[in-house]
Amino acid sequence: MVADRGYYKGEEILACEESGITTVLPKPKTSNNPANGLFGRGDFRFIPQDNEYVCPAGERLIWRFRNIEKGKTLDCYWSSACQSCAIKSQCTTGQHRRIRRWEHESLLEKVQRRLDHCPESMRLRRQTVEHPFGTLKAWMEYTHFLTKTLQNVRTEMSLHVLAYNLKRVMSLLGVTALLEAIAA
Ligand code: SF4
Repeated sequence: MVADRGYYKGEEILACEESGITTVLPKPKTSNNPANGLFGRGDFRFIPQDNEYVCPAGERLIWRFRNIEKGKTLDCYWSSACQSCAIKSQCTTGQHRRIRRWEHESLLEKVQRRLDHCPESMRLRRQTVEHPFGTLKAWMEYTHFLTKTLQNVRTEMSLHVLAYNLKRVMSLLGVTALLEAIAA
């Protein structure tokens, strides 16, 4: 399963994994730290065997506590060296830099490694999935839907998609094969 970052949700990635679905998708950029000139989460490396992070200053962020937020179990890490750190101004405006780690974070790291190994998958996704929407918009002459209310618009969109799919099958297999498939 290849998706864009808009579909990134840890719980759903976990559900896919548990269902045997291999996911490839990029992480959304939710932190403002890099934009503000501060180290990003990617600058901190997790050491699984020690259950600690290493920060850009080479210090260890040790495990502090575990809590549950919005149904997710999170572990919290920080270093005691932040107060005397020479590069603290590039890291945090607080007393110390905290890193929170979801209990299934290793799965998200695995998904990221998968993406790193096949970066072309996102281009393939765009070519495959975005193209039908562009075609549908062109058929609609880049204007709004003709109907109103969710139920009606949903029906109108379904008809567009049905027409697209029929035309696509006809161009790939031909009308005869399509009719035979429908009859079967
Ligand atoms: S402020 Fe703390 S976490 Fe950040 S680089 Fe310095 S020691 Fe590491």
